[in-house]
Amino acid sequence: MNKDLQQAVLRLPLVRSVAARRASAAVRVRALLRSLGGAGRRLARLQRDIGALLRIDPVFVAGDAAAFQQGAQRAGLTNRLPQHEKALREHGGRMHLPRFCLCCNETTPMLLDLESSWEDSDGSRIPNWRERLVCSHCGMNNRQRLVAKLVQQAARERAAPRIYLMEQVTPIFQWVRQLPDADVQGSEYLGYQYRGGEAVGGVRHEDVMALSYADASFDLIVSNDVLEHIPDPAAAFQECSRVLRPGGVVLATFPFHTDREGTLVRAKLANGAVEHLHPPQYHGNPVSADGSLVFQDFGWDLLDVMRQAGFSDAACEVYVSDAFGHLGAGLLVFRLRK
Ligand SMILES: [Zn+2]
Repeated sequence: MNKDLQQAVLRLPLVRSVAARRASAAVRVRALLRSLGGAGRRLARLQRDIGALLRIDPVFVAGDAAAFQQGAQRAGLTNRLPQHEKALREHGGRMHLPRFCLCCNETTPMLLDLESSWEDSDGSRIPNWRERLVCSHCGMNNRQRLVAKLVQQAARERAAPRIYLMEQVTPIFQWVRQLPDADVQGSEYLGYQYRGGEAVGGVRHEDVMALSYADASFDLIVSNDVLEHIPDPAAAFQECSRVLRPGGVVLATFPFHTDREGTLVRAKLANGAVEHLHPPQYHGNPVSADGSLVFQDFGWDLLDVMRQAGFSDAACEVYVSDAFGHLGAGLLVFRLRK
């Protein structure tokens, strides 16, 4: 078995805790992993299967700002990683870190560069950890790899899950679509002139504030960096709640301002026209060269909006893992349960 995979497996919390309790158990695990080596194709299949069995769990879960600050402090979350900053400088701002990709089930070179980086108060360039660390095999960045893996984990808890992603032309959608026994639907917002459910060149149009799906259609809804571009996020959460089955789950990411109690509304729709309350900001959009306008900078009051939309539970999960290439001050994934 690949040595890096062994290392990754040995770093798993379960294996680690076994080792901590009883050193001899860890020695047995190591011997077992060694004994699996050298069996060619069977080994590759085994590697895939082990990959599907590997789990990633949050380092902590927070339901409000105070819990987040406490968790972040305890976990030592930081975007300043001096060792990697130094290596990146020495490599001229572009390098690959070998890490275990939970989506490829192997150690792959992950691209770290200074795209979308920012300058810290001491003048250092800080990599955009969330959007970089792009796996050379699956092409997914730090955030995308995590979400894809979490979808797999959630899908495994259900028989023949129905999954809806608020995206369809992305590597995450392509990856999730290949999950065994899952019925996977996706859509993009293509423009106000289209009807919900209409297909344009093989791509389904949906407005997430007014989905065309029937009530209780899905077990799992996945929303990656979409909701900050929605004029009325409350309507989107209500729609998610409506089309979810009881016991269903939403996994959502978006830029979240952990220091902000109240959401900042940057823009709103008035009589069909966009009114800017703050200087407009745009993010990349896979189906439009114009990008997507940011309507809100979300703060902690968003969790109340989620709960009022029909979710019994809404919390922010924070993920960090050096072994799996999830570096930086934690990736935030919101999990909503109906
Ligand atoms: Zn990968």
